[in-house]
Amino acid sequence: MTKVGIFGSGQLARMMALAVRPFGIEVICAGNKNDCASDVATVVEVDMSCEKSINNFLDKVDYATFETENIETEHLLNKENIYPPVSVLHIGQNRLNEKKYFNGNNMVTAPYKAVNSLQDLQNAVSEIGIPCILKTCCGGYDGKGQFVLKDSSYIEDAWNELGDQGQLILEGFVDFDYEVSLIGVRARDGQKLFYPLTENVHIDGILHTSTVPSKAQNLQIQTEEYMGNFLDKLNYVGVMTIEFFVKTNKNGIAERIIANEMAPRVHNSGHWTIDGATSSQFENHIRAVAGLPLGDVSYNKSVMVNCIGSMPDLQKTLKLPNIKYHSYQKEPRSKRKVGHINLVGEQTISQNLDKILGIIK
Ligand code: AMP
Repeated sequence: MTKVGIFGSGQLARMMALAVRPFGIEVICAGNKNDCASDVATVVEVDMSCEKSINNFLDKVDYATFETENIETEHLLNKENIYPPVSVLHIGQNRLNEKKYFNGNNMVTAPYKAVNSLQDLQNAVSEIGIPCILKTCCGGYDGKGQFVLKDSSYIEDAWNELGDQGQLILEGFVDFDYEVSLIGVRARDGQKLFYPLTENVHIDGILHTSTVPSKAQNLQIQTEEYMGNFLDKLNYVGVMTIEFFVKTNKNGIAERIIANEMAPRVHNSGHWTIDGATSSQFENHIRAVAGLPLGDVSYNKSVMVNCIGSMPDLQKTLKLPNIKYHSYQKEPRSKRKVGHINLVGEQTISQNLDKILGIIK
């Protein structure tokens, strides 16, 4: 039986394990036994700072991958059968590197400056202008580690909030019309497939809904070219996600894209693929990692609604026809992603989306 190791044991690892169970692929996670992947996969504790502990884990599996880019990579470099290449994690681990990488590959980003002191912040604000966002370069997610400066009186507050959290970046505030993400997958033989651009709505920095197709279908080919070049250049294997801001013209047509961030992994904005695509992002990631042929990415119109804090009542939710309920079996906690609901097909969406949004509120 093929065994795939995943660094991490949260909901993304859980969904990868569930996706390939019908293939007879066994997933073993390096993580925390209390995490939510543990009821569908074996979870072992690995000391990421200890090469011996990592080698013990790698000896148990045929291939290994990640569910998060925020891991220690010192002892992973130069190891075989880890996909995507570990060096790629370094791009996404630091917002400054990521932006430099985007710009170096002809992708437009928000203007930005590195910030290491209050003086740097003052200079960066005068250069970039107001409004702008101060962010931690590493480790922030779901809107954490970010401070929006609405005018220059916010400079000290922003510094007091984030000044002690390592390297910072000040970004110009992009006056975008909406946000989309592109999820693509590359196999070891170089074959590439892309899901349709997904339109994402965030509330308080946390993803709320993802919808396909997006209003930016006219940008599909352009964004596929950007990501395709990336994937080939990096000799990438597995799923990659890039998030973009979209600006429309006066007729409401998507005209310009601005790259926000990339993730060298499966992504929350691709959870709709479990029910809305022939092969999900989770299945395709493991197919690529395990050297299997990629699966078809044909799709139906879909909406994913994140469940933040707690899951809606199962009884009440399943009364609505064709609702796909995904609980990660996590303890309820404020702002925590604990599951999602997928709605697939025009009729299901038009009849039930408002009701689901009402139940989830
Ligand atoms: P991030 O963690 O960078 O993806 O930020 C979370 C969310 O905050 C994004 O999806 C946007 O909705 C918003 N955001 C982040 N950076 C910017 C920016 N430079 N301009 C406008 N909105 C932003």
